[in-house]
Amino acid sequence: MKYYKEAITHPVFNYVTQAADQLGINAYVIGGFVRDFFLQRENTDLDIDIVAIGSGIELAKKTAELLPHHPKVQVFKSYGTAMLKAFDIEIEFVGARKESYAEDSRNPAVEPGSLQDDQNRRDFTINALALQLNQANFGLLLDPFNGLEDLQQKLIKTPLEPGITYSDDPLRMMRAIRFASQLNFKIETKSLDAISENYQRLKIVSKERLVSEFNKIMLTKKPSKGIKLMHSTNLLPLFLPELTQLQGIDEVEGQTHKDNFWHTLEVVDNISRETNNLWLRWAALLHDIGKAPTKKFNKKNGWIFHGHEFIGAKMVYKLFKRLKMPLNDKMKYVQKLVLLSSRPIAIVDEEVTDSAVRRLIFDAGDYLEDLMILCEADITTKNPARFKRYHNNFKKVRKKIKEVEERDHIRNFQPPVSGSEIMQTFDLKPCKEIGIIKNTIKEAILDGDIPNEYEAAKKLMFRKAEELGLVNNNIDV
Ligand code: ATP
Ligand code: MG
Repeated sequence: MKYYKEAITHPVFNYVTQAADQLGINAYVIGGFVRDFFLQRENTDLDIDIVAIGSGIELAKKTAELLPHHPKVQVFKSYGTAMLKAFDIEIEFVGARKESYAEDSRNPAVEPGSLQDDQNRRDFTINALALQLNQANFGLLLDPFNGLEDLQQKLIKTPLEPGITYSDDPLRMMRAIRFASQLNFKIETKSLDAISENYQRLKIVSKERLVSEFNKIMLTKKPSKGIKLMHSTNLLPLFLPELTQLQGIDEVEGQTHKDNFWHTLEVVDNISRETNNLWLRWAALLHDIGKAPTKKFNKKNGWIFHGHEFIGAKMVYKLFKRLKMPLNDKMKYVQKLVLLSSRPIAIVDEEVTDSAVRRLIFDAGDYLEDLMILCEADITTKNPARFKRYHNNFKKVRKKIKEVEERDHIRNFQPPVSGSEIMQTFDLKPCKEIGIIKNTIKEAILDGDIPNEYEAAKKLMFRKAEELGLVNNNIDV
């Protein structure tokens, strides 16, 4: 019998102990909290899971009563769980239960059970560790599956037969890979085989849950580890077929192209060393997806992927929609980075005009820095001389951008003559001529035909208006 009182010094446990003892039921802290204590892991998602041998909802209510600020208890009756917030931490309460699963659903039928029943239904041995909270046995470790040893061995293992655990709730396949990536653990062979056998069952898991686990993989230090595991177990084509379609090298007349799937994984790892921005990492993941549908070979140019950025950006929308990810500004950000992903390389050339640079600054706007990070991460050549040359090229691009920007202030640029001024000057209601004039001014500035200044823009406005047959009603001008 081992006690780990030092794991449960957080003030909230004191109240749970009192509540459980007053109700005369056994209570335990279980799961991630206990695991992370033994791993000495800082967990930013920290929450506390309490299991009661009896009603979790009653225990939550009693705990709330005893806590000085009497927090609100959120009850999820159909799940038999309750949640309250104390000391800025979410604390989940559940009654110990036995579960049985139907073939087509990952929502089990449940009935009250013992602590051991509850530990049996947990996903991994390392997530089934429990510490007792009752005063009489405060800190007692209950570890029926040797989870502690698996923590030391860095092993992901299921409490029951892995085939049953994964088939019951296929989300656990993603969770296994997610924990393996986050903790840098190995999934035991038996378990890995069971995932490969049950991969088709991923289909019954909601997209939201899959995305949430996948995003955790994307936020690890080296996302390729998790993605490769998804690939080798066959989960990846179910979740992101666009990505696996990039795999393979074709050869025509002795000419090959690079394998864009493995290349992409390297790009994702590269960018993950530079940024924790999940969406920039997603942009790296998807930057080449347009290459599968656009791939062509012609004698003159060899392998080409004409317009893959444009097609790729369209695919981003469809992919987000399919995965039920919000179609918000994050999606637009990823889309835009994919669309612009080849542009910086096009202005590497010494001879490139300021106008091309201005256009890139204008098109990328606030995303320009992220776009440059993406382009640099895209360099995966193994040839050291080339590697250096490509990086130097981007250094030059950054310099050019800086020079042009300091001079022309193009980023977030608004044409110096506004739509309402055009309307007023020519006494117009909203109409397409206004857009034409505004666009002419914008184009002229980006091309460098006129400076980014009010007077010059106004002059051009009059010239273009005359061409369009508009009459100036403002007699002062
Ligand atoms: P983290 O909070 O760092 O993601 P965690 O282990 O706390 O890790 P949660 O999703 O918060 O993960 O779940 C809490 C606990 O509930 C887990 O430790 C595990 O015991 C159990 N659990 C969660 N999801 C499942 C599942 N799909 N199948 C079985 N047990 C699960
Ligand atoms: Mg948790």
